[in-house]
Parts: sequence; C-alpha cells; structure tokens
Amino acid sequence: LQSKFPAMGTNIFTIMSALAAEKDAVNLGQGFPDFACDPKLVQAVTDAMTRGLNQYPPMTGVAPLREAISAKVEAIYGRRYDPVAEITVTAGATQAILTAILSVVRPGDEVVVLEPCYDSYVPNIELAGGVAVRVPLTPGSFRPDFDKIGAALGPKTRAIVINSPHNPSGTVWSEADMLRLQELVAPTETLLISDEVYEHMVFDGAQHQSAARFPGLAARAFIVSSFGKTYHVTGWKVGYVAAPAPLTAEFRKVHQFNVFTVNTPVQYGLAAYMADPKPYLELPAFYQRKRDLFRQGLQRTRFKVLPSEGTYFQCVDISQVSQLGEADFCQWLTREIGVAAIPLSAFYGNGFDQRVVRFCFAKKDVTLNLALDRLARL
Ligand code: PMP
Ligand code: GLN
Repeated sequence: LQSKFPAMGTNIFTIMSALAAEKDAVNLGQGFPDFACDPKLVQAVTDAMTRGLNQYPPMTGVAPLREAISAKVEAIYGRRYDPVAEITVTAGATQAILTAILSVVRPGDEVVVLEPCYDSYVPNIELAGGVAVRVPLTPGSFRPDFDKIGAALGPKTRAIVINSPHNPSGTVWSEADMLRLQELVAPTETLLISDEVYEHMVFDGAQHQSAARFPGLAARAFIVSSFGKTYHVTGWKVGYVAAPAPLTAEFRKVHQFNVFTVNTPVQYGLAAYMADPKPYLELPAFYQRKRDLFRQGLQRTRFKVLPSEGTYFQCVDISQVSQLGEADFCQWLTREIGVAAIPLSAFYGNGFDQRVVRFCFAKKDVTLNLALDRLARL
C-alpha cells in the first residue's frame, strides 16, 4: 500500500504511554488524571442508562446538555449561546477542532497556528487541504507575539487557532492579549478556533479569558471545550463547540457525517451533573495545590522549573541534568529512571529542541511523590 500520509507518524502521547506501561514507569507524560472522577458523575450516567437513554441522541447533542452548557457559558463569560442553534456536543475537543477546521478551511486556505501547539492542529489543517502558517510564540516566555501574528495574517488567511491555557507551556493569555488579538483580526475576515479545554485550570487568582467575553472575537469564533479535562474523565471523550449560528450551521454539516452523534447516557449524565457549579469552581484550587506540591518537589532536582499559570502541565529545562536532546531524554528518563515525560519538540513542526520537557501533574499526591523521589536522584 502506498501511504497517503508517508510523513505522518504515531503521536507522541501514544508512544510515551506505551513505553511507560512497558517499563512500569510513573506516567507523567500523556495528560490524564490517575484518580477517580466524582462518583456522583458516574451515578448520573448510570441513572441515564438505567432509564433507558441508550439510543441515538439528536445530531447536535441532547437538549438538557446543550442547555446546561449555554447556561454555564453565560454565567461565567457573559455571552449567551442559543442551545438550539449555537451549541453542538462533540466526541471530545479533538473531534470538535477537526470538524471546525474541515467545515471552514478550503484547499489552499492558510490557517495560523502558534507554535508550540497541540499536535492535532497542523494535521487537521492539512487534512482539509489548508496550509498551516506557523508563528512562534515568544521563545522562553511562550507569550503571543502580536507583531508576528499580525504579519502572518494575509488575504489567504482563513482562520487562526489559539489555545489558552496553553498546552504544553502552561501560559495563560491576559485580557490585554485577547483585546490585542481582537484588534488585529477586526479588519479581516479571519475566523478563530479557540481551544479552551483547560478553561477551569487557571492559577494564582487569574481569570480565564474566554473568546466568549470579547464580542469581536466571539462573533468569528468556534469555542471548544472538553468535559474530559474539567471532570477528570478524559476517556469519555465528550466536549462541545459554541459558535454563532452561521458558523454552527457549517460545523454541523460536517459533524453529521463525521461522528453524527455522541454517547447518549454520558450526555444526560453530564447535563444532570452540571447543575452543580462546585466541581468546576473548585478546580483551580484543586490543581493549584497539585502544581505547588510538584513544583516544591522539583526544587530537590536540578531541573530549572518554568512557570505554570494554568493547565495541568509543568515544563522544566533539562540542560543542567542531561546532555541529551528532549526526545532522547524522555526515552531515557522513562526507561532508566522510571518517569515518563513529553518532549516539547513534539509540539513543533520542525522538531525544535530547546531542552524543555513537559510533566503532567494531574496525579494522586502519592504518584507525584513517587515521581519526585525518582527525579531527585538525577
Ligand atoms: N486540545 C488540547 C490543547 C488538549 O490538550 C487536548 C487534550 N489532549 C485536546 C485538545 C483534546 O481533548 P479531548 O480529549 O477532549 O479530545
Ligand atoms: N491532551 C493530552 C496531552 O496533551 C493527551 C492527548 C492525547 O492523548 N492525544 O497530553
């Protein structure tokens, strides 16, 4: 068989999780919690199954879930999305992003991504026949460089993809950043895909600046989030897209022939569980404590600990610890030290190696402490 995608390899998360399992290493690579979700959430899904809610739901998602999403987004970001015409339930953020891109990007269109970026964006753009225009985030700080972003916008630009809180760096865009972006795109037709899956993991009292808060951005945005991150159920693969009606209409044209619908009882369970805002309101403090425990422990190592303003990721500079490149270091660390991490080079098209690796701290304290004990030996 002649490969259609000869250059496309297996994604880094699959590779590192398989190696971690094989070597029985503590897996701080792929981002997922190793602790249980709230039993009430499991009960809510079980109740839905028991009530017989087990057949195809509406293509757009079950009404109670779309209504719960709408109410929540309006309560925290102050913009109302019509649950009928502007919210679509998806099979996680991954499908939401792919579907958004497929629904608006034509062959030859340019889509701006800010590197380092999540590994699915560029392949998604290329699957649509588009051209990814890679704009670097500021080296070292990973903050947006608006002069460079502005320079990348041109007549062929169809969309820009942003991601705050940011995987892998943990940076969080400020209100000023969002206003600056709003100003830059105002004279253009550029659409926005705003990947906000870590919206509830923002630390030190900062606020998540959803594109929904900014009318000039919201009017052109597909806002993507994921219940997997917020409710500790990454394996359930349910998320959503909120977008103005004309964008949602285009999105659904592709969605209906992509997954068509998403797991019914999980949708009803999530809808019931969302009535209580406590779980997501408590999430920043929950993860900030884990971040601080992990960062404190890293002081015992020779890693240089970089900032983590949001997400459940902590990046470290490895240059005082090893002469290896990032990818080799992660392999070595998993095999020899028993801790898996992700090389930042996996988030760059050219494999740029800045001697920085990413750890996930969405783990039980005992898991983090075990990893820290191993890392302290380096
Ligand atoms: N975007 C980012 C930035 C992510 O970190 C993830 C999680 N891997 C996703 C999208 C995909 O989310 P989901 O698991 O809901 O598909
Ligand atoms: N989002 C998670 C990460 O960045 C996992 C993604 C995946 O497994 N594809 O680690």
